[in-house]
Amino acid sequence: MGERVRKPHPTTWLNVGAWQERSVANGPGERFVLWLQGCGRRCPGCFNPEFQPFVRRERVTSEGVAGKVLRTEGIDGVSFTGGEPMMQARGLFELARMVRARGLSVFCYTGFTLEELQGSWNPWVLALLRQVDVLIDGPYEQDQAAALRWRGSRNQRVHFLTDRYRSLVGDAQKPLVEMEFIIGDSSLSMTGGLDEAFVARLQQILREDPR
Ligand code: SF4
Repeated sequence: MGERVRKPHPTTWLNVGAWQERSVANGPGERFVLWLQGCGRRCPGCFNPEFQPFVRRERVTSEGVAGKVLRTEGIDGVSFTGGEPMMQARGLFELARMVRARGLSVFCYTGFTLEELQGSWNPWVLALLRQVDVLIDGPYEQDQAAALRWRGSRNQRVHFLTDRYRSLVGDAQKPLVEMEFIIGDSSLSMTGGLDEAFVARLQQILREDPR
């Protein structure tokens, strides 16, 4: 019998709407944030409608993103948001596994509830869940809007799935609005637990282009 050769893991791809190397408004500490492209829920008041369409944006391998994350010095970990990260569970599982092996943490948003994910038929969803330190579950619901740490509506829950951030359990229940503005050469983007009326007014002002 010849020696059994272990097959290399097939490359997994991610369709990324945007990323930001350093954010302090998408989980504990400073984090590398990935906005995954595509979400079918169409929640009224969604803060990121540009990430809803299932269109091709930046296609990158999980290994490629892991390299970028691991080259970013001093961060606590990576955050997955969107869009719906669980629609790209396989690639994110691979990415999460690689960055956790180097001591980084994983924070993940999803429009599904934890119970729905735990009952999923998709083994990659279950595999990804096992890599997540903190999960924020449930879609944004406009009639339950609230200024809460890391989330924008009361139905969304914070699940500490590992012990890594358990010291923050009390903090996670406190009201808090965190907004972060990222000013690029030709762009301005916002992230964090944004107040809907404020965002609408700001977008209106920016559209008016007061130069
Ligand atoms: S689940 Fe999240 S990303 Fe998807 S439409 Fe709702 S608020 Fe937007």
